[in-house]
Amino acid sequence: MSTALPLLRHFIAGEFVASAKTFANISPIDGRQLSQVCEADAHQVDQAVAAARAAQAGPWAAYSSSQRADMLLRIAQGIEQRFEEFVAAEVADTGRPVHQARTLDIARAVHNFRTFAELLRQSGGEYFEMRAADGNEVFSYTVRKPHGVVAIISPWNLPLLLLTWKVAPALACGNSVVVKPSEDSPSSATLLAEVMRDAGLPSGVFNLVHGFGPQSTGEFLTRNPDVDAITFTGETRTGSTIMKAAAEGVREVSFELGGKNAAVVFADCDFDAAVAGVLRSSFSNSGQVCLCSERVYVERPIYERFVAAMAAGAEALKIGYPDEDGVNMGSLISHKHRDKVLGYFQLARDEGATQVTGGGVPHFGDARDNGAYVQPTIWTGLGDDARCMREEVFGPVCHIAPFDSEDEVVRRVNDCAYGLATALWTRDLKRAHQVSRRFHVGMVWVNTWFLRDLRTPFGGARLSGLGREGGHHSLDFYSAITTICVNP
Ligand code: NAD
Repeated sequence: MSTALPLLRHFIAGEFVASAKTFANISPIDGRQLSQVCEADAHQVDQAVAAARAAQAGPWAAYSSSQRADMLLRIAQGIEQRFEEFVAAEVADTGRPVHQARTLDIARAVHNFRTFAELLRQSGGEYFEMRAADGNEVFSYTVRKPHGVVAIISPWNLPLLLLTWKVAPALACGNSVVVKPSEDSPSSATLLAEVMRDAGLPSGVFNLVHGFGPQSTGEFLTRNPDVDAITFTGETRTGSTIMKAAAEGVREVSFELGGKNAAVVFADCDFDAAVAGVLRSSFSNSGQVCLCSERVYVERPIYERFVAAMAAGAEALKIGYPDEDGVNMGSLISHKHRDKVLGYFQLARDEGATQVTGGGVPHFGDARDNGAYVQPTIWTGLGDDARCMREEVFGPVCHIAPFDSEDEVVRRVNDCAYGLATALWTRDLKRAHQVSRRFHVGMVWVNTWFLRDLRTPFGGARLSGLGREGGHHSLDFYSAITTICVNP
């Protein structure tokens, strides 16, 4: 007897609603279908935007910032109360190890709401005094108001973490939101809608629409003229398309886009810490983190030893089921994405790379052979102009190259269309400070990776993004600021 699959619906004006059109949500762990997902058409997207607009004139508008902070804390608590359901949803959609979903994805979602609740309580306006020509003491101050309706479009690689990174500050600032999660990871966002409802968030403040991007839900949302601001995380090419849509009506945008990040390892580093750090920055989440290092530059005296240690480390990574003991790496997000990554594995061979390890698909002899797994892969021997050195692969792969001087490595790292992050490994902190500021990126890590204080600005340079979010930068993006000048 077959069991009916769950149907993931949209959440519009406080109600779960279905669409005629649906698509299958396939788990990359073993190719099993998890659910059927509704795809919002243009009319449903318009309804979601209209609900968000109406909510701006409803009870939400009367919430003080302190009441909004309390609401964020209730949402954080709501996620915590259903923590294991969120973990299961994220794991099934993405194939990531359970321990990662627990300690990173879902934990960070809770933390996002708590952080912005706290920041909201501490945030204030600006105040200035000046003397006018008539001798009067004039003062100016600023007030923050919501933009109104914010569209939030998110990717699949850290689904709930990246979605709530934007939902939390948008709500903190009093906006209503229409969110569109990736078609490849729709489950945790659906649970989030339930949490919003159960937390008592007024209807229409949080709306969720499922679907695809081009000529589907995502495009309908960005083209809706009643959306006041668009915040997006995803590929650079998609960001560029969304920017064109946002130009109509000169709407605010914030973009967190792709990367081709470097790790730079100086010979004076703590060798074992650097190997462990670069293994992590190359292979975490199967290399599907925008901040992963795909280009590794190692100072020549330790180059051979470093490559050997990285190869041994990559070969020791355990690939497997999300709940297996000691598992380090899960699947990629989908078969489609695996085809893209395997295409780069082939391209690297065609471009003359030496494949130090990996380069293929693991064989399990069980249901996982229907999943979307690839081996952690290391290349050497490519020139800096190779396509595999310039294009984002977004899989568990890095290329390791030697370098001879500080100036040389800075030039090679900066010779890149992207500018998201660089990780630096050295014991010489004076050099670390001097070199860090020479990289054209939004974020530099010294002797660590992925560590974030959520109050700091986050974003990319060049093709990696536009604007900064994090701390007061988020509150600035999600607010319309008015200056009031008073001549008493
Ligand atoms: P993607 O651009 O394909 O899709 C992201 C979202 O945009 C999805 O919800 C998709 O449905 C939607 N979309 C696609 N085309 C659209 C259109 N024309 N109009 C409106 N919406 C559209 O990206 P992805 O494959 O889901 O995510 C991987 C990418 O995200 C990588 O490039 C990665 O580097 C980047 N990323 C960046 C950051 C960062 O902080 N800079 C963080 C995570 C991921």
